[in-house]
Amino acid sequence: MTQIPWTLKTFTLLLKTCIAEREIFRGKSLHALYLKSIVPPSTYIANHFILLYSKCGRLSTARHVFEQTPQPNVFSYNVIVAAYAKESQTRIAHQLFDTIPQPDIVSYNTLISAYADCGDTEPALRLFESMRDMGFDMDGFTLSGVITACGNDVGLIGQLHGFAVAGGFDSYVSVNNVLVTLYGRNGFLGEAKRVFYGMGEELRDEVSWNSMIVAYGQHREGAKALALFKEMIGRGFVVDMFTLASVLTAFTCLTDLVGGLQFHGKLIKTGFHQNSHVGSGLIDLYSKCGNGSMLNCKKVFEEIPWPDLVLWNTMISGYSQNEEFSEEALECFKQMQRVGYRPDDCSFVCVISACSNLSSPSQGRQVHALSIKSDIPSNRISVNNALIAMYSKCGNLWDARRLFDRMAEHNTVSLNSMIAAYAQHGLGMESLLLFEHMMEVNLAPTSITFISVLSACAHTGKVHEGKKYFNMMKEKFGIEPEAEHYSCMIDLFGRAGKLTDAEKLIETMPFNPGSIGWAALLGACRMHGDMELAVKAANQFLLLEPSNAAPYVMLANMYAKAGKWEDVATVRKLMRDRGVKKKPGCSWIEVKKRVHVFVAEDSSHPMIKQIHEYLEEMWRKMKQAGYVPDVRWALVKDDEAGKGEKEIRLGYHSEKLAVAFGLLSTKDGEPILVVKNLRICGDCHNAIKFISSISGREITVRDAHRFHSFKEGKCSCGDYW
Ligand code: ZN
Ligand code: ZN
Repeated sequence: MTQIPWTLKTFTLLLKTCIAEREIFRGKSLHALYLKSIVPPSTYIANHFILLYSKCGRLSTARHVFEQTPQPNVFSYNVIVAAYAKESQTRIAHQLFDTIPQPDIVSYNTLISAYADCGDTEPALRLFESMRDMGFDMDGFTLSGVITACGNDVGLIGQLHGFAVAGGFDSYVSVNNVLVTLYGRNGFLGEAKRVFYGMGEELRDEVSWNSMIVAYGQHREGAKALALFKEMIGRGFVVDMFTLASVLTAFTCLTDLVGGLQFHGKLIKTGFHQNSHVGSGLIDLYSKCGNGSMLNCKKVFEEIPWPDLVLWNTMISGYSQNEEFSEEALECFKQMQRVGYRPDDCSFVCVISACSNLSSPSQGRQVHALSIKSDIPSNRISVNNALIAMYSKCGNLWDARRLFDRMAEHNTVSLNSMIAAYAQHGLGMESLLLFEHMMEVNLAPTSITFISVLSACAHTGKVHEGKKYFNMMKEKFGIEPEAEHYSCMIDLFGRAGKLTDAEKLIETMPFNPGSIGWAALLGACRMHGDMELAVKAANQFLLLEPSNAAPYVMLANMYAKAGKWEDVATVRKLMRDRGVKKKPGCSWIEVKKRVHVFVAEDSSHPMIKQIHEYLEEMWRKMKQAGYVPDVRWALVKDDEAGKGEKEIRLGYHSEKLAVAFGLLSTKDGEPILVVKNLRICGDCHNAIKFISSISGREITVRDAHRFHSFKEGKCSCGDYW
């Protein structure tokens, strides 16, 4: 036991600074000091530590401190409830709320706005009702919270609006602002206007004006948004960068590039375009609405004399959202550091996602190393989560796991990333074990968790478990299954050959299965050769997405496999008549930090001659080992080509070209990763198994659906894909 070297007042002051500055390391040493000291345990100080850990994203440590607090007061409860609320863990937040001996208005407001943030209307309303029943005093925040929770239920919003007026809550500016925002967002511009213009001028603040400007923007009333914006200036409101950003956000919501360009012109006249915050709005607009062009973003960026960190981050994020600009995202990240900025968690998350897009483990590793060296204490967890997803997407599942194990703390996203990684790599069992662990440590699973869990069950043929988890979703966690979950279930039944169950599920589900549902059924039909059901599924799919090539290709493949060449021709003619184009199959591989792209039957690669020679030699050895080319995958009509030509076409599929190049240009024994934009074809899958055993290499192929790790003649998917 030691004495704290400061007075208690100084100590608390230091602690408060740590909280304000999110200084987790200094905060932790203060905590250690406090625990060793002779100061008697104080709820007041404990509350500050709970706040510190929750603000720095250390949820379980915050919880631990809370549990250890001898006499928690309502403030302690409110802080821990808010901590879980911030992480969208409303279930646990609510459990904790229920244990508060005497909840106060802050407790209620915290939980209500947590539900509001998650769009959970029901529980927010129930809390509000119970407050009313108990005659609890409520304030403007209570009401604006519960109105926000109504999301798009305009009937409910109207009722609460009535309640607000009757109870005199319409004098709260926050209530009015929420009403303007929600009426606007839900298509009730008239109501939004009534609230806004009914507010009276003293009451309106900048947020009110901004909300109304956004409401006009959402109703394609760009001119009115601008007019209001002018009026706002005329009335002497100080237009700041936030107002201008609201106008820009309105254009972004509308994907109104033309309007945005015009507004940009006006900004240039006022010089505001050189403001970093406004610039971020412009870059966001152009990166989301620029039809894949980043030219305008670049121009905006270059016009800003002193770009700040937020602007650099927006630029990096803009590049990494447009997949084909991932290289530029990396370049931008490097440039930012050259001019002296230290990347923060946000920069890292964006650039790591660019590395995932590039399937470039070497670049990802470099960024990882840099993130370790740099000082980003508060949100390291989000960076690590991004790294887990990146390693997994680049085929390095074990690097992802190592990182996961080394993390000091996990949140829901960490678990979700790792569970998804296992599921995509075909390790269904590991995925499910981790899911069980997630529940043991009281991290609430989300809708995303269940997509991974159900797809893990589907890919490993665990029908019983899949059903169990599907029911658990709603019954235990109150998560309504969405189209993705249903499609996983259809896939699960389909793969296991239970086509009747799959069909029954589609018929009884509460909404249209959507194209992903029909695609899952179609895939199952293809696997089991059920032509009749396949035609039905394909027709439903095409009703929803007439220009998607996938169902046509699947049907054509099935007809070809069955030798029904006339039907193949019919499908092809239909595609031609409707102008549907098949996406060309394309594979890529990173060798010595350079990405090489291959398209089927493409001979533009400088090493194509060696690749063909290598494949011919390999072809010979494979046949000796018992490989029989599955010419059904060549999809050429019998009389169009002889058997020989079909074999040649199969040999030049993009994934085989990429694998051959990878083997040719890396050292013996080195594992290789090939990425394909579509699903791997059946013949390539079989061929690569032979290639892995003949070359003694580990070959991983990531296709549009999952990973295939080929080793010693076997694939990790167990041919169940
Ligand atoms: Zn192939
Ligand atoms: Zn496989």
